[in-house]
Amino acid sequence: MNPAKQAPATAARSALSRKAEQFTESVIREMTRLALRHGAVNLSQGFPDFPAPAEIKNAAREAIARDINQYAITWGAKTLRDAIAKKFERTQGVSVDPEREITVCCGATEAMISTMLAIINPGDEVVVFEPFYENYGPDAILSGATPRFVKLHPPEWSFDPEELAAAFGPATKAIILNTPNNPTGKVFRREELEAIRVLCAHWGAVAITDEIYEHMVYDGAQHISPAAIEGMRERTITINALSKTYSVTGWRVGWAIAPPEITSAIRKVHDFLTVGASAPLQEAGAAALQFPAEYYEQLARAYLSRRDRLLAILTEAGFRCFTPRGAYYIMTDISAFGFPDDVAFAKYLVQEIGVAAVPGSSFYRDPADGRNYLRFTFCKTDKTLDAAAERLTKLRPAR
Ligand code: GLN
Repeated sequence: MNPAKQAPATAARSALSRKAEQFTESVIREMTRLALRHGAVNLSQGFPDFPAPAEIKNAAREAIARDINQYAITWGAKTLRDAIAKKFERTQGVSVDPEREITVCCGATEAMISTMLAIINPGDEVVVFEPFYENYGPDAILSGATPRFVKLHPPEWSFDPEELAAAFGPATKAIILNTPNNPTGKVFRREELEAIRVLCAHWGAVAITDEIYEHMVYDGAQHISPAAIEGMRERTITINALSKTYSVTGWRVGWAIAPPEITSAIRKVHDFLTVGASAPLQEAGAAALQFPAEYYEQLARAYLSRRDRLLAILTEAGFRCFTPRGAYYIMTDISAFGFPDDVAFAKYLVQEIGVAAVPGSSFYRDPADGRNYLRFTFCKTDKTLDAAAERLTKLRPAR
């Protein structure tokens, strides 16, 4: 056919997909770009600014030297899947079949979207606790799920069981759970997970659980994998990654653990999205997952001390802090500063004070719900935290 004779695209037709038009760039990643532009101390995006353990770096070098440089098996190198299964059994007492129940992806981010694309049909609803890690919004749009938000109420970030029950219904396909939680630092308790189990069982829904901060728990809090709750193993998709536990957020190696039927679907989606995660880095991950218990204890101790340091800095500067019991973020209430909203305050902070944080509204569907909050991360060196402390002395609450 002669292309010149084809009808021209109508002016009304958008060049973009309706899905892509429904969400914005990540605010978290935008804050990192702003921090770089203004030379600000970056306490926005949650990536460590200290080195990864020497052992994991050596294992990566060795894997490349051994010529592990071609595609791994699309759903993950056997060494890594075996190590994931062993660690899950060791730490949570959940035994899974690495041959049929694990898919290695390019980070937890891909594990989450591959999972959603694998299980969601038009009209399916997904229950999401709010505030939520911003990716879950676009994940719902891309997969076609309708999110049903349930509030976590400060200061404990607890949910009202009746509100949760009201969000479930015949169209509920899944609940997304992030424990320990970004951005609140909440660690879901056993009774809360039991309440979720009852609703999932009643409505035939699955739980998609993002457990990337599993080893960052404080003040006696205990991380419980929802899959370890009696009756949940068969209806849980557990997502995790190397990123936070081994301080390698740029490596992009994560995974989804799910019952065989769901795993087959996740593996197909994953294969056609990305083929596979980096082969040598998967080998390094297999070595890291075998680190002894002391590694994780030391990691939690180091994060506890960073948490306490940042809590002191922010409190001194006039922020009201919600003390996190897990993960590596501090949600703060910024009402005392008298700014119109969180975005205006975050801009002032990055441009005039030289400290970058994430506006609370990026964790809520309705920006008004997050207008009094700002999230800071403490996965940073003492030097970085000291520099933030120094700059924040210029900040004064409105009197
Ligand atoms: N999870 C981290 C955060 O919330 C980083 C997210 C990302 O940029 N992929 O800051």
